[in-house]
Amino acid sequence: MRLIEPPGGRPWALLSLCASSVLLNIVLIARLTVGSSTSATVEAEVPAEAPVEAAIASVLTDAAPTKPLPEGVEVLSAQVEHSLARTFQAKAGDRADVLAAVTARLFFFDLDLRADLQKGDVVKVAYTWDGALAHIPVAVYESKKLGKSLTAYEFKASNDQFSSWWDESGQEMAFRLVDGPLDNYEQITSLLKDRPKHKGMDFKVPEGTPVKSPKAGRVVRANWNVANNGNCVEVQYADGTLAKFLHLSRTDVKEGQGVGAGAVVGLSGNTGHSTAPHLHYELEKGGKILDPIDYHGVVRRTLPEGDRAAFEAERTRLGSWLTNDT
Ligand SMILES: [Zn+2]
Repeated sequence: MRLIEPPGGRPWALLSLCASSVLLNIVLIARLTVGSSTSATVEAEVPAEAPVEAAIASVLTDAAPTKPLPEGVEVLSAQVEHSLARTFQAKAGDRADVLAAVTARLFFFDLDLRADLQKGDVVKVAYTWDGALAHIPVAVYESKKLGKSLTAYEFKASNDQFSSWWDESGQEMAFRLVDGPLDNYEQITSLLKDRPKHKGMDFKVPEGTPVKSPKAGRVVRANWNVANNGNCVEVQYADGTLAKFLHLSRTDVKEGQGVGAGAVVGLSGNTGHSTAPHLHYELEKGGKILDPIDYHGVVRRTLPEGDRAAFEAERTRLGSWLTNDT
C-alpha cells in the first residue's frame, strides 16, 4: 500500500483503494474515509457510566484469563469521542486514522462509524502494525445506537482461500453479494455508500484472480480511459444494466462479444488509478448508479459445523488479548 504526502505534510494511507478520477481526489477520498467524521458525530450528552473494562468484560464473558500479548500485538481501548480517528488519536497518535479506517471496515455492514457512533460508545481493538497499515485480528465495538456490542474475530474457514471476520455466533461480519463478480476475495473495502464520489464497490483481491460477469449480457466497451480505469470491461446485462469491472491486469473479452452468466471477462489487477490490488465493480442503469447490494442482494455466511471447534478455540485465544490493556 502506497503512502502519499498531502500538502499538510502528513502521510495518509490510501485505505480507499480506488480513485475515481485524479490523484487529488484520492487524498480527499482518503481523508473523507478515515478522518473527518466530526460533522456526522452524534453529540448526545451521554454520561460515561461504565468503565471501559467493565464494558468490554460484559461482551467477553468467556474470555480466557489475562496472558501476555503475543509479540507485536497491541491493544487499544477507548470511550468514543467525536470521530473514531480522534478517539484513537490520544493513544495511537499517527496510527489513529488508519486504525479507525480498518476498524470501521470490520463493522461497516452493521454500523456506519461516521454517522452512527455516539459519545459513550466503547471500542477496543487488538492490532499489529507493519509501519503503514494496521491488521486487526479482533475488535469490539459497543454501540449505543444498536444497543449491543459487535465483536469481530478473524478466522480462516477451512473451505475459504482467505481469512475473514466472524461474530461470536460464527456469522460472517461482512455480507457477500449474491452471484458477485469474484468467487474469492480478501475483503470488501468500500461500499457504495461510503464515499459520495465513488461509484462502485471495491474488493481487495490478489492480482490475477478471475473476474466474472455475474449476469449474461454483451460487452459494450473494453479498455477505455485506461489512465484512470486501467484495463477494464463494461458489460450490458440483459436487463439493460451496465456493469463496469475496473483495474484489471488483463481483459479476456472484446467489444460486442456476448457473455454468459459467470463468464470470465478478465483477471483482477492494480492498473489505472489504483493504490493496491483490487476490483472496482460498478453498476449503472439509465444514467443512475445502482448499489450492488440492492441489485444483487446479499447473504451473510455462517461457519460450517466442521469449523466450529477450531473457531471457538481461536475466539478464546483472540478474546483473551482484549482482556489485556495498555
Ligand atoms: Zn472503486
